[in-house]
Amino acid sequence: MAETTLTDTDTTTSAPTARIGRFGPYGGQYVPETIMPALEELDRDFRAVIVDAEFQAELGRLLADYVGRPTPIYEARGFAARIGSGPVWLKREDLAHTGAHKINNALGQGLLAKRMGKRRIIAETGAGQHGVATATVCAMLGLECVVYMGEEDIRRQALNVYRMRLLGAEVRPVTSGTRTLKDAISEAFRDWVTTIQDSYYLIGSAVGPHPYPEIVKRFQSVISTEARAQIIERLGGLPQRVVACVGGGSNAIGSFAAFVDDRDVEIVGVEAGGRGSGLGDNAATLQTGAPGVLHGAYSYVLQDADGQIVGTHSISAGLDYPGVGPEHSFLKDAGRVRYDAIGDRDALDAFFLLSQTEGILPALEPAHALAWVAQNPIPGVTLVTLSGRGDKDVHTVAEAMGQEGALR
Ligand SMILES: *Cc1c(COP(=O)(O)O)cnc(C)c1O
Repeated sequence: MAETTLTDTDTTTSAPTARIGRFGPYGGQYVPETIMPALEELDRDFRAVIVDAEFQAELGRLLADYVGRPTPIYEARGFAARIGSGPVWLKREDLAHTGAHKINNALGQGLLAKRMGKRRIIAETGAGQHGVATATVCAMLGLECVVYMGEEDIRRQALNVYRMRLLGAEVRPVTSGTRTLKDAISEAFRDWVTTIQDSYYLIGSAVGPHPYPEIVKRFQSVISTEARAQIIERLGGLPQRVVACVGGGSNAIGSFAAFVDDRDVEIVGVEAGGRGSGLGDNAATLQTGAPGVLHGAYSYVLQDADGQIVGTHSISAGLDYPGVGPEHSFLKDAGRVRYDAIGDRDALDAFFLLSQTEGILPALEPAHALAWVAQNPIPGVTLVTLSGRGDKDVHTVAEAMGQEGALR
């Protein structure tokens, strides 16, 4: 490959720094030398702000007043009754500003960038959700915002493109490769290499080279820190099971973090099974992929026999990514988290089920987690992260139903 920046299974890599930023064998920094100083600066400044009382106070204030945290937990009694399960509690990230968990990370990194004296934010987006969250935070913090997006995704996600432009962001079309998220990420890194002095690359999931997976986990851990305290307060104990959907893995790692040391709590991550288990038919990286390097880190990757990244399919744009965060690869191998896949059809069924039993339209991403919960009922308490609301997916759902020729 003739790429000069982070892409696929790239050859222009430097060795990962010792065991720093590793989760078992996974993670690391497979990046061109030109990016190393920026990652070192980022690592140093991140470590400084997380122990800085002023930074934490500012983040806390904005999480409360701007994002609307803490988000509630809600007992979905109608849903649980219908699936014949014990109590099911939803962590309501759909009620966060902009309608999903992505704002937690965008806000944390936006504040970090400002602290670092960076005035320009670079981001990439597939479905547009991370682009919207980033553009939102940039508008509020007074930062310039450039969002790379594949031409194909721009066509499919016109509403989010318009939203980003309304928020004052510049959306730059990417015409290389498959013109989707994977190519947008490569383009964003290419920009960063030449603008490192005044630009901050704001990654949208728990992926990328160290220290990004750790940074994203830190800012998304608010989900499980809150949920664990909330469920103990309401029920006097821990849930039997915690479930979240996994795309790149940011809402999942944030949902799992506070429970990983609770040995009795079963933890489940649900990937997109798409239309089947064949290569290219799904985005179930941990189910059907193998370890390799993608976007600066060693982790499970969907690749063919030659190590080329394969195309993915999922009804949910937010899960449609051929990689997964390195910590999830580690948690899978360690056997601490169980990973499973749910297909398009079952996710759609769960979308309808939650809508009609609870009056909550879930995003198609967490509909995968809900479908898994519906198929695996237990007598004990299940906590599921409802990572986002489904308004953005109404079109996709209508289209899928149209293809079947009926609305149920
Ligand atoms: C983007 C998105 C996801 C997938 O991203 P993760 O990094 O895996 O969390 C899940 N749910 C919603 C609502 C999203 O917008």
